[in-house]
Amino acid sequence: MRHWRFCFEALKDISHKYKVSLFEGDSFKIFRELNEKYHIQNVYSHQETGLQHTFARDIALKKFFKDQNIIWKESISNGVFRGLENRNSWEKKWLTFMNSEIVEIPESKLCFKASNEFTISDELKNDLNKNDPKKLSGGEKFAHKMIRDFLDSKVNSYFYNISKPHESRYFCSRLSPYLAFGCISTRQVYQRCKSIRDNSTVNKRSLDQFTTRLRWQAHFIQKLEMQVDIEYQNLNSAFNGIREKKDKKKFKSWKNGSTGYPLIDAAMRCVKESGYLNFRLRATVVSFLTHHLWQPWQPGSYYLAKMFLDYEPGIHYSQFQMQAGTTGINTLRIYNPVKQSLDKDPEAKFIKKWVPELSKLPTALIHQPWNITPMEEALYDFSYGVDYPKRIINHESEARNARERLWKIKKTDKSKYQGLKILSRHVNSRGRLNKG
Ligand SMILES: Cc1cc2nc3c(=O)[nH]c(=O)nc-3n(C[C@H](O)[C@H](O)[C@H](O)COP(=O)(O)OP(=O)(O)OC[C@H]3O[C@@H](n4cnc5c(N)ncnc54)[C@H](O)[C@@H]3O)c2cc1C
Repeated sequence: MRHWRFCFEALKDISHKYKVSLFEGDSFKIFRELNEKYHIQNVYSHQETGLQHTFARDIALKKFFKDQNIIWKESISNGVFRGLENRNSWEKKWLTFMNSEIVEIPESKLCFKASNEFTISDELKNDLNKNDPKKLSGGEKFAHKMIRDFLDSKVNSYFYNISKPHESRYFCSRLSPYLAFGCISTRQVYQRCKSIRDNSTVNKRSLDQFTTRLRWQAHFIQKLEMQVDIEYQNLNSAFNGIREKKDKKKFKSWKNGSTGYPLIDAAMRCVKESGYLNFRLRATVVSFLTHHLWQPWQPGSYYLAKMFLDYEPGIHYSQFQMQAGTTGINTLRIYNPVKQSLDKDPEAKFIKKWVPELSKLPTALIHQPWNITPMEEALYDFSYGVDYPKRIINHESEARNARERLWKIKKTDKSKYQGLKILSRHVNSRGRLNKG
């Protein structure tokens, strides 16, 4: 519903400019009815890189359109290309696409027969109209405002703050949901960045880090475009069979933000409410789930897909697998939740906001509440295990276990062989994109 609401806001936004019709139900049935009514000649859409079920839907629709002599014109979305076998020319293609002219279609050329018409149930309408002040609002207007604000006043401090849980919420562009749902394109954003790059006041390093990430956006979506099963299969099959069983109790603690690790708990509570975490926190909570708690990545990825307002399947599942260590080709990163907390949130600003029950403690104890002594408990009127949960695991020993288990697999011939296959398909011959 979080995503539908964002799309609905975006549709309402463009409904002032264009005529918008919204239908609820099976797309095949809806198109059949529309065709009976309007005798459709052309269907225009972007090329969607979705999941197995949207892929199946598209195949069925393609057949229907063909049978009805309807021409379906799909345009390239954000520099992701259909039908590639490998990545050798991908980067060049992406760059050419980013630099190509953006053509504005005159409104007079768009003649819709339908009028604004939201054919949806009252229940859905009520849900869609619910406002959530903590989340970003959807729409083209907001997307353009976000990029304007970012380039006018934030970009110079962007890279310095990108990994800080609290500050990143302000200094990062926060464009991801607008890009994911098509309120703005990476090409529009890329060209705006390019137009200001030579200004003397712009911090070029910071700006370039930002535009590199626009390329990563398409790089990851391209992976799903070329291999749809990464939604549920380990990219590297040598890692099959590890972490098969979900421990309901551990998973619940992670999901609800009650693991006893303050940074993890703050992040999980924050994403539930606000729909956003910066990259480092996303990586840290996935690392905690899959390495420290040794849980399968799939249930975690489905849960966070629902929570992230910017849910973009191609980025989401590729990143999840990278952080879970199931690609076999990326550096194995097991983020230490205490070190991350001390390094990236030294004053515990982020933790205090999302885990307020720890606020009365001094900062050192906020990061590691298990160090509290009985005397300090009395002094701060805080009962460890009552006011805040005891930690459910020991992060140091669990990280050691996970590292040993994963390295053992990573070193096998099977993993190396699979790794070569993955590299030849998803990484260009110079291997540079591997970093993303
Ligand atoms: C486990 C995990 C899941 C993720 N799931 C998603 C997801 O569903 N949707 C999503 O858009 N991003 C996802 N990301 C990538 C990244 O965390 C977000 O794109 C970023 O935090 C969005 O914030 P921003 O718009 O302020 O980014 P900025 O730092 O301002 O970057 C600008 C744009 O570049 C792109 N971008 C930035 N970082 C990355 C990255 N590491 N990989 C790919 N593209 C990037 C995004 O489109 C982003 O909007 C995920 C990362 C991890 C570790």
